[in-house]
Amino acid sequence: MGAIEVPVLIVGGGGCGLSASVFLSDQGVDHLLVERHPDTSRVPKAHYLNQRTMEIFRQHGVADDVLAEAAPLDKFGKVRWQTTLAGDGPLERRLIHEMDAFGGGELREVYAAAGPLLPAKLPQMWLEPILRRHAEERNPGRILFHHELVSFSDEGDHVVAEVRDLETGESTTVTAQYLIGADGGRMVGAEVGIELQGPPGLVNTTTVYFSADLSQWWEEGTLITHFLSPEDPDLSCNLIEMGPRWGKECEQWGLHFAPGPPGRWDNESVVPRIRELLRIPDLEVTVHKVTDWIVHAHLADRYRVGRVLIAGDAAHRQPPAVGLGLNTGIQDAHNLAWKLAAVLGGRATDGLIDTYEAERRPVGRENVDWAVSAAVHHQAVIDAVGAGHNIPAGRRRQRLEAYFDPSPLGDTERARALEIFHTHRGGCQSLDMEVGFHYEDGAIVGDGSEPPARVPMRNEHRPTSRPGHRLPHAWIAAGDRRLSTLDLTGRTDFTLITGPQGTRWCEAAARVAEKFSVRVTTVRIGDGGEYADVDGGWAAVRGISDAGALLVRPDQHVAWRATDGARDAEEALAEVFAAMLDR
Ligand SMILES: Cc1cc2nc3c(=O)[nH]c(=O)nc-3n(C[C@H](O)[C@H](O)[C@H](O)COP(=O)(O)OP(=O)(O)OC[C@H]3O[C@@H](n4cnc5c(N)ncnc54)[C@H](O)[C@@H]3O)c2cc1C
Repeated sequence: MGAIEVPVLIVGGGGCGLSASVFLSDQGVDHLLVERHPDTSRVPKAHYLNQRTMEIFRQHGVADDVLAEAAPLDKFGKVRWQTTLAGDGPLERRLIHEMDAFGGGELREVYAAAGPLLPAKLPQMWLEPILRRHAEERNPGRILFHHELVSFSDEGDHVVAEVRDLETGESTTVTAQYLIGADGGRMVGAEVGIELQGPPGLVNTTTVYFSADLSQWWEEGTLITHFLSPEDPDLSCNLIEMGPRWGKECEQWGLHFAPGPPGRWDNESVVPRIRELLRIPDLEVTVHKVTDWIVHAHLADRYRVGRVLIAGDAAHRQPPAVGLGLNTGIQDAHNLAWKLAAVLGGRATDGLIDTYEAERRPVGRENVDWAVSAAVHHQAVIDAVGAGHNIPAGRRRQRLEAYFDPSPLGDTERARALEIFHTHRGGCQSLDMEVGFHYEDGAIVGDGSEPPARVPMRNEHRPTSRPGHRLPHAWIAAGDRRLSTLDLTGRTDFTLITGPQGTRWCEAAARVAEKFSVRVTTVRIGDGGEYADVDGGWAAVRGISDAGALLVRPDQHVAWRATDGARDAEEALAEVFAAMLDR
């Protein structure tokens, strides 16, 4: 392979890097992706795809393929705590508590109102091949697995990188205008002096990935089932379906034990532990892999240094609680792709790329902190029933017996615990963390309004068209075609949404688009517009009058809004584009 010149080099073919590739291709940006492994992840890892990620996949034509393999919500919309999976002793197979989670059960209606798609569950080992296929179809010959970034240097106006083919040992020089480090924080950030800041590793987690037929005992319908052992805190763990089929048909499983020392088990020695904790002494188990990994709470001090940008775990690492890790990485890539496209296409200056850090780092901070707080709080929840990790072996049985006791005092124990379980909604019902993140500073033109107050548990989302926020979802229709307002957004284009009397804004937008060489799609929603407001949902959230306008970025965040008509619409829009595109 001779020397390569390409606008963007992506390092890392995990969930973040592959998503970045798909998004860049859809923006028409030529790029090369290198991934050192010969194949996508062989371990399941993250498995929850939140609503915002699914909307992004929908915008890029990936959602249908994900949904074809993913578990539907009725197969995972709960979290459960129980003593053991099987066994018939008085404290075995006892349900401690279960609650609706991640849009399941009674939450479904609220989640369905928030967006065009519900969350989905698909572990990374099944998701990444879909992303890889989409990336390769869009960019044939340029998604190079088994290729490693060996070194690179930022030359000021370009990056020069050495990439090695790990099969042949051959090295190639790649010259790129920008380099995206989606390498999980293994190399790129550190090379340019980016520091991942935060406390030392929080806890070692051991994940056991295995196949077994648990259909006889498994109560389907949970994203996570926590087992709180009546005897041994070290046997407390959680069990997660890893597919490829779901519910009782699930064949592969992930068991997470934390805390505990690394290296405590290998593929053989863990088998008796699995049988013991599940209380199935003769269970046939095939262990695929035992991995130890450290849970971190790290945030990069910068997301950009010169021509180098970082995204995904390279920029933030957090406990798996709330499932924000991979989702945040995919959303980083979505924020960055249109900005790179605009700059590389000459429609914006390099300053637009600075807004990536200004917008995404505060979200990274919030998501890391939220995941830590949810993980810590989970300890309080399980302490409440006497099964926390700090409750010693001898006390656990006694406390759980008290919890299940049919006496009036048992009623009190359960009522107390119930109140505490209820506080866990911040850990598994935090819809506003999933779709409510927004930008205060960046490629937006604020209108001086305050953001809506957020519910402390983040389990309520208040949609708003305020600049910086995600465009609110509402169902609209043109003839027989029913679509979400989010479907109006292009992958590269800006979208100007007005009320039915917004014709002047639309005409002005056409002239400004020409001046700035950007594409702006204009739509009017409401009586007399191109789209009907199907059930009044849009009127309830649009935040503008019939004569007002919203400018929406390719990443579906509102860039600017005019609540009403303006005397000089063209001048107003020209100012917005100049500010947003840093021109
Ligand atoms: C066992 C386990 C369970 C987890 N469970 C959850 C969960 O339930 N929920 C959740 O949200 N998160 C979970 N996570 C975290 C989640 O997997 C990560 O947030 C996610 O993988 C981050 O994606 P990424 O693409 O940023 O990084 P990665 O998935 O780490 O991908 C980075 C890629 O870069 C490649 N790379 C690195 N250096 C180079 C180089 N020099 N040249 C070429 N390629 C390179 C690596 O090989 C790797 O494939 C879990 C992680 C583990 C390990």
